[in-house]
Amino acid sequence: MKPALLSRYYVVCQDKAESLREAGLRECQDRTKRSSQCLPPTPVAHSWKCNTSEHKVLAVSVCPQSLPYFAAKFSLSVTDASRRLSGFLKSLGVHYVFDTTIAADFSILESQREFVRRYHQHSEGEPALPMLTSACPGWVRYAERVLGHPVTPHLCTAKSPQQIMGSLVKDYFARRQNLSPDKIFHVVVAPCYDKKLEALRDDFPSALRSSRGADCVLTSGEIVQIMEQSDVSVKDAAVDTLFGDCKEEEVRRHGGASSDGCLVHVFRHAAKELFNEDVGEVTYRTLRNKDFQEVTLEKNGEVLLRFAAAYGFRNIQNVILKLKKGKSPYHFVEVLACAGGCLNGRGQAQTEDGRADKALLRQMEGIYADVPVRAPEASARVQELYQEWLDGADSPRVQEALHTAYQGPGHPANSRDIKW
Ligand code: SF4
Repeated sequence: MKPALLSRYYVVCQDKAESLREAGLRECQDRTKRSSQCLPPTPVAHSWKCNTSEHKVLAVSVCPQSLPYFAAKFSLSVTDASRRLSGFLKSLGVHYVFDTTIAADFSILESQREFVRRYHQHSEGEPALPMLTSACPGWVRYAERVLGHPVTPHLCTAKSPQQIMGSLVKDYFARRQNLSPDKIFHVVVAPCYDKKLEALRDDFPSALRSSRGADCVLTSGEIVQIMEQSDVSVKDAAVDTLFGDCKEEEVRRHGGASSDGCLVHVFRHAAKELFNEDVGEVTYRTLRNKDFQEVTLEKNGEVLLRFAAAYGFRNIQNVILKLKKGKSPYHFVEVLACAGGCLNGRGQAQTEDGRADKALLRQMEGIYADVPVRAPEASARVQELYQEWLDGADSPRVQEALHTAYQGPGHPANSRDIKW
C-alpha cells in the first residue's frame, strides 16, 4: 500500500477541520432560521491515523444513502456506481469495501422488536411511547445535549447502522480474519458530518474497547474530492461481504419515502405482531409539509397504530412540543435531522457555496426510488449472524452489540469531543 495515498485518509480529515467547523456553523445558522433552538456547531472532524505498521487491514464501509450521490455524479446505476467506488478505493490500497445495508438490517430488526415490547409496556403512568428512532446522529445528539429527559427515554435503544457496522467489522469480521480489532482501520463513507461525531460515542462493546467502531468517517463529498485530485486509473471492483470470498451482487435498500428509514418495516411488523394484520403498500399522508407525514393502521373506523415521519428541525420541534405536553398522538416517530432525509445530508448534494443542490437532490431521489427494496427479515445472512455471532436473537450479546443507552444534558463531554 502506498503510504502517500494512505496518509490522505488522515490529511483529508485534518485539512477539512476548519472548513467543517464553518460548515457546522452554517448548518446551525440555517437551522436557527427555521427553528427557535439549534444544534451546537459541528466540531472538528474525527480521525485516527492509519498506520501501516499497526493496521494490517484497511476496510471501508459505504452507507446506502451515499450511493445515489455517486450514481448521480458518475451517471451510473447505483450498483455500477458502488462497483466504481469500490474499484477506486481498492486502487488506493483499501483491502475490503463493504455495504452497511446489513448493519441497517440489524438496526431495523431490533427496532421492530423494541417497538412491540414498548407497546405492551406502555401505560399513562409510565409512557414508553411514542418510540422515537435513533439512527440519525444529528437528531440523537440534539436529544441528548439539548432536550434530555423526558425525551431521551423515548429514543429507541437500537444502535444505528454505523455503530453496528463497527461491531460487525471489528468483532465478527476481525475474528474471521484472525485479527485483533485494532489491526483493522475502519473508514465509513457517509452522507453527513454528524456521522463523524457519532464515531466518538463511547458505546463500543467493552471487549473491543482497545479499538473504535469507526476510525475515520469521510463524507460522500470528501470522497469525490479525493477522486478528483487522484490520478490513479480505476477498474470497477465488486463490493465485498463480511463472509469470505462471497461478493455482493446487486444493491438493495430498505423501504421508506426518501431515506433508508425504518418506519415502513416497524409499521408492517407491528401490524402483524400486535393486530395480525398484513400490510402491503404503506400509504403516507402529508401533514404540514412534505417532511411531516403520517401513516395509520385502521380497523372498523378505529386507529390502531399512528406513525409519523418528522424530518428537519422545524417538524422535530413540533413533535417534541406535543410529547412534552403529554399530547403526542403517535406510537412511533421516524426522526431525521435533515429536511428531505439522508439523501439531503450536508456531506453531499451541496452546491459549492454550501446550499442544498435541489436539482441533484431530485436526481438522487429518482435513483434511490428505483433501487429494489429488501425487507430485513429476508436476509438469510442476518439470521445466520444472530446465531453464529451473537448466540441467538435473545442473548445478552445482542444487548451489548446492538443496543445503547443515552446521556442527558450535563453529561461530561468526551475528552475527544467538542467543548460546547
Ligand atoms: S438525517 Fe441528516 S444528519 Fe441524520 S443521519 Fe441522515 S444525513 Fe445524517
